[in-house]
Amino acid sequence: MSPAPQAKSFKGNKQSLPSKPCQACGRDMTWRKAWAKNWEQVLYCSDACRKNKPASSSKVAPE
Ligand SMILES: [Zn+2]
Repeated sequence: MSPAPQAKSFKGNKQSLPSKPCQACGRDMTWRKAWAKNWEQVLYCSDACRKNKPASSSKVAPE
């Protein structure tokens, strides 16, 4: 008979979310929806790490 159409366009690939290590604690932080607009600027996994960042005078980001 006629084969039933299978849903091959499944978009539930959660494992494709980008991730990168926190610059302070080194833990992998997974992409969050809240970071969608500034993902490339996110360096720390939390505010605590942002304040805990290693002292480096190489980069000075005005904030
Ligand atoms: Zn961290």
